[in-house]
Amino acid sequence: MKLSFPFDPVERSEESERLVMKDGQRLYHRFRPAPYYGGIATADAVGCSFLCAYCWNYNRNLYPQRFDKFYSSHEVSSRLLKIARQRSYHLFRITGSEPVLGEDSFHHLLKVIIHILREKPRSIFILETNGFYLGYRQDLIEKLNFPALRIRIALKGVDENTFQSITGAKKEFFQYPILALKELEKLGLKAWPAIMGDLFTDNEIERLREHLHEHSIQAELEFEYLERYPFVLQNMDKRNIQIKE
Ligand code: SF4
Repeated sequence: MKLSFPFDPVERSEESERLVMKDGQRLYHRFRPAPYYGGIATADAVGCSFLCAYCWNYNRNLYPQRFDKFYSSHEVSSRLLKIARQRSYHLFRITGSEPVLGEDSFHHLLKVIIHILREKPRSIFILETNGFYLGYRQDLIEKLNFPALRIRIALKGVDENTFQSITGAKKEFFQYPILALKELEKLGLKAWPAIMGDLFTDNEIERLREHLHEHSIQAELEFEYLERYPFVLQNMDKRNIQIKE
């Protein structure tokens, strides 16, 4: 995928969607039990609207066309349900990518969620998203109204400049994930923001909190922490992103 920084994330999202979706099926590279959240059935997809310097799936999201196995929503939910049954899990997620790149991937995701919740009604599906496309197409958000859905929006920067250097996307798109959060809260859906805690100072985090309050966002900010793989540190170095211990 041709890419120059900073890029337009709408274009990148649309191009990624064209590469990773075919006839309602999406490219995935594995399905696994994962220890996070106390144990969660996990599908690793490829394709993202951003290209974060710290992405642990950087090359898969840069070159999603290297994968060639498309899965229908039914195949994805069936594999996840099998893992959950084997491990006695009740949590589910899709990760390693952005689940919502456009209408096709959105509807694929909805079908995965609906099938899982129908087959295992006491489950929780955690939608891990960068929130960009949901902020860009807020009309889609009301379709996420499942009581068993939790939506975690990973904010990438505390302001326009840090957003651009971390995601590679143009700074003017910084607000979109925040607009998605605002709409989710307005509709009463269970959503919250997350931020990479070791990349920002206390003052920067406080500024972000104030910014979220200005948008009337009530949910608490969750902190995640960097997986310091050597390639992650190299990519961060290339974009001049420092770890703030
Ligand atoms: S939003 Fe997530 S999946 Fe996409 S590039 Fe960033 S870290 Fe990777």
